[in-house]
Amino acid sequence: MSEIYRNFIAGEWATSNNAIDNINPSDISDVIGQYAQASAAQLQETIEAAKQAQKEWQATSLEKRQAVLNKIGEEMMARSAELGELLAREEGKPRAEGVGEVYRAGQFFTYYAAEVLRQIGENADSVRDGVEVDIRREPMGLVGVISPWNFPTATASWKIAPALAYGNAVIWKPANLTPASAWALTEIISRQDIPKRLFSLVMGSGAEIGQNLIEHPEINAISFTGSYQVGKTIARASAENFTKFQLELGSKNALLVMDDADLDIAIPAAAGGAFGGTGQKCTASSRLIVHESIHDQFVERMLEATKAFKVGHALTEGTQLGPVASEAQLNANLDYMKLAAEEGCEIAYGGERLNLEHDGFYMSPALLLGGNNQMRVNREEMFAPATCVIKVGSYEEGLATVNDTDYGLTAGIITQSLAKATHFRRHAETGCVMVNLPTAGTDYHVPFGGRKNSSYGSREQGKYAEEFYTQVKTSYIFSGSPF
Ligand code: NAD
Repeated sequence: MSEIYRNFIAGEWATSNNAIDNINPSDISDVIGQYAQASAAQLQETIEAAKQAQKEWQATSLEKRQAVLNKIGEEMMARSAELGELLAREEGKPRAEGVGEVYRAGQFFTYYAAEVLRQIGENADSVRDGVEVDIRREPMGLVGVISPWNFPTATASWKIAPALAYGNAVIWKPANLTPASAWALTEIISRQDIPKRLFSLVMGSGAEIGQNLIEHPEINAISFTGSYQVGKTIARASAENFTKFQLELGSKNALLVMDDADLDIAIPAAAGGAFGGTGQKCTASSRLIVHESIHDQFVERMLEATKAFKVGHALTEGTQLGPVASEAQLNANLDYMKLAAEEGCEIAYGGERLNLEHDGFYMSPALLLGGNNQMRVNREEMFAPATCVIKVGSYEEGLATVNDTDYGLTAGIITQSLAKATHFRRHAETGCVMVNLPTAGTDYHVPFGGRKNSSYGSREQGKYAEEFYTQVKTSYIFSGSPF
């Protein structure tokens, strides 16, 4: 019987009647642990308790808040090898990607530690004589954080760090596929010198505890990263209570490879963007839009690159592509491969379940050819190690195809032309644009987010996060006549 990892409720590790097994997708005989499922009563208890803790935290000195965030970040970076391995074990990404993610998550905390001291308001003269105006930001209060499994530590950290930095309490509902990473980060936060009930972990299913959280009238703001479908549910529930919310959702990112592209840049960008993280990145390149004059050369080299990916256990040295995260995800991916063939794509390589040394959810990376932008495989987010090449005859057609999607997170162009790169940056209808880089891969000190169905609300990350985690107060001060 493995250990049951508990929720963190009102400042205590709390038992529950229910727990789920956390299964390693690289080897389903490996049960990482059992993770308690929070009840509605525990959610209520921890929300009640957080209200007073938030007030205390808001009144805590800036340097103390800064020190806490620094300590969390530094511990995560120092322990990135250990926690990255745990992340890789439960999520399935190769160890190096897991370690990199935990290190990056630590950087979010140290970045926002510095931002604690940069909370500077504005002031103005009133239009009335003798009156001054002071404009400052105050915390939102109780923030609900709901995070996905694909970047379980990074997505949560880029929400939790600014939420705490700007003086809020946090109630975190992580994804049930990756509770170990959530528990580990909570354990670090639980040891900090913060008001005891400031931070809560409520593990459980989205439909139950997640739904309870988003419907709770005392939650002041919800920051959500996940699928478009669940995002709509969050929006509806938030509207009911006038809860502030921000959504980072799905995508259908495209990389445009122009006729003048340097293939030594294009191929690693396309292959890394498509298959990194087993294609389970919101920034993955799932459409490769290629100019006809370079198409055949590109396809030949992309095929070589796709075949070269070493699929294996996330913790085995040399693995470049781990398993997909769950059986349900694997089945959905395989269904998409069937659909691709029915829609008329040639599956030039991959797209099949692999039986390897360990029993896990392995799939070969799939390169689809002969696609057009109307096919469902080019319109719906697959979240699979699969990408489709779409041939275009000109830059204009390429740009129009990039933009012909309901989503708008990232877009990339590979070109040696400054004029085309500049035009693309200005006209791609996405929140992030990459030039001669993969569509995946962003920094932590600048804003991140999308357009259309990929995002809603104010931007995450960098200084821009302040907009979501704070609310503005305008004060008018009449100091009286000095005479
Ligand atoms: P998901 O929408 O299924 O789940 C996300 C989180 O929401 C989980 O914690 C889940 O338990 C919870 N949830 C589910 N139903 C809920 C409900 N009714 N109420 C409240 N919470 C609920 O997404 P996922 O499968 O975990 O993650 C993959 C998705 O996340 C993809 O669509 C991907 O593109 C997206 N994603 C987006 C970004 C971004 O920044 N744009 C980053 C990473 C992942």
